[in-house]
Amino acid sequence: MAEIRSPRLLMEECRRYTTQLSELRMLLEERLHAARARRARLDVAAIEAALERMERGLYGTCIRCEAFLPLDRLRAAPQVQQCASCAGETRLTA
Ligand SMILES: [Zn+2]
Repeated sequence: MAEIRSPRLLMEECRRYTTQLSELRMLLEERLHAARARRARLDVAAIEAALERMERGLYGTCIRCEAFLPLDRLRAAPQVQQCASCAGETRLTA
């Protein structure tokens, strides 16, 4: 079982999470406008999919392994839906 936390800490965590989500939603909406202006159909589709995942409460987790995506990764590319290793971004050193 998870550790028992105080309601105050839970509330703080919840507020922080909500703030981060609304920051990322704004980023997504900005990029959606930009992508539409560029008529970049693939980008528009990826961003719309991310916004839809946000509506469904699934945003921020990898679609393949369900790991939490790091905030830095989401800030850099808010439409990303896979963790670095599922996206094949890990560098293999031989
Ligand atoms: Zn993954």
